[in-house]
Amino acid sequence: MAATLRPEWRAFIDGQYRPALSGKTLATINPATGQVIAEVAACGAEDVDAAVASARKAFESGVWSRRAPTERKQVLLAFAQALMTHREELALLESLDVGKPITNAYNGDIVSAATCIQWYAEAIDKLYGEMAPAPAGMTTMVVREPIGVVAAVVPWNYPLSMAAWKLGPALAAGNSVILKPAEQSPLTAIRIAQLAVDAGLPPGVLNVLPGYGETAGQALGLHMDVDGVGFTGSTEVGKLFMQYSGRSNIKRVGLECGGKSPHIVLADCPDLDAAARAVAMGIFANSGQVCNAGSRLIVEAPVRDALLDKVLQIAAEMRPGDPLDPATRLGPVVSQSQYDRVLSYIDAGRADGAQVLAGGGPALPDSGGFYIEPTVFGKVSNGMRIAQEEIFGPVLAAITVESVEQALQVANDTIYGLAAAVWTRDIGKAHRAAQGLKAGVVWINCFDRGSMSAPFGGFKQSGFGRDKSMHAFDKYMDWKAIWVAT
Ligand code: NAP
Ligand code: MG
Repeated sequence: MAATLRPEWRAFIDGQYRPALSGKTLATINPATGQVIAEVAACGAEDVDAAVASARKAFESGVWSRRAPTERKQVLLAFAQALMTHREELALLESLDVGKPITNAYNGDIVSAATCIQWYAEAIDKLYGEMAPAPAGMTTMVVREPIGVVAAVVPWNYPLSMAAWKLGPALAAGNSVILKPAEQSPLTAIRIAQLAVDAGLPPGVLNVLPGYGETAGQALGLHMDVDGVGFTGSTEVGKLFMQYSGRSNIKRVGLECGGKSPHIVLADCPDLDAAARAVAMGIFANSGQVCNAGSRLIVEAPVRDALLDKVLQIAAEMRPGDPLDPATRLGPVVSQSQYDRVLSYIDAGRADGAQVLAGGGPALPDSGGFYIEPTVFGKVSNGMRIAQEEIFGPVLAAITVESVEQALQVANDTIYGLAAAVWTRDIGKAHRAAQGLKAGVVWINCFDRGSMSAPFGGFKQSGFGRDKSMHAFDKYMDWKAIWVAT
């Protein structure tokens, strides 16, 4: 099937697939082979103008924005169902486009995207406004309204599920949305536009613009008629979106940015095997291309050797392989530039005096793909670049500490604050850590747990605003106070 796949390559504007107005295209590459899968439309500012005009027209017409919540719910439930009906096709597109193991794409990404859309569909007719305390002769209602035209600018590590985290709340709330996928991963975003319209979403309510960040992304950020941006990506580009906002119409910006999450294992860890599995999967899953990856292991000295032995054993079993093989658990990284970047960090770790305990180089060199060995560094100090900068690859930096206080101090010594974890059997230490860790998500005796019911997002330079849960509506809705003199 992969050999004969002819994925849709055009942008989706006003309910129609069309090439970029400039006629330009960009290649999307299969990271497992280095081969081109397809040339997709490379949208520019003129396509952004067309998509924004369509989105605005749809919004002002009320065809979606003023539709009864129960009816929006039915359309979005049908959309979620369509994602599941096309699960195989979408998983294949995602796996080919970003090198994600097909098993993970099929059991993880596609299901999580559908679940997210379904969750917001079911939530939207349960979202109440408020009645404010008011004097006699006055009725004061506080109602929520969609903000209007929303741009969703998303990364390549979980293309469809990151898109769903924006589309779910933004569409359910009644907004019109323009989705810009990452240049490395446009195929599923392009495909689902048609599925959404087939499910009953009116034309113009969802537009999809593949293209480069510096062109299409920037044009969305600077557009005077875009009311809000839901962004997931690097901290560097997140900062640009705040600048775009200030230079244009102070559009609302929600930022889910990078991380360098501390994974703390204290000497009284209740289950060292479980911790070792969590530490290994927390950095090797999705080839380490995870915003909340537990990229810094902070381990108390008495359990350091025992824990690392177990982690190294798991690393040795995680051989990189072909993402289309259902047995593969570790695929390539997404692109040549990501490959070069990760390897350069491995060099920096060595140069700074850290010790390579596992991996430390490329894998499967004959494949043409961008494979990297699962890599573990010991003897890391928190000031090293491999401990401070987001590598976004299968590279773990292990730091040894002597106390819980030192563990927390090291954990918080970072510009990021997305997630953190602590393993301890002492309930006092667990609560102290949960309070002391500066992160939007804290896991105690587990790692990477999540559901649609709990918010996800960061402190500090990991951004602000929350995806998932009812809190995500705050990014895509505004409050209006209505005073009625009776
Ligand atoms: P990125 O380079 O920041 O790109 C994210 C999106 O922004 C892409 O669509 C990109 O388009 C666009 N973009 C790039 N430069 C731009 C510019 N100058 N103006 C406007 N838009 C621009 O991030 P990435 O490399 O795709 O993804 C990895 C990052 O995402 C990591 O830092 C990771 O931590 C973060 N992430 C965070 C979360 C979270 O929830 N906190 C979740 C997943 C990932 P192009 O593809 O064309 O560059
Ligand atoms: Mg690709």
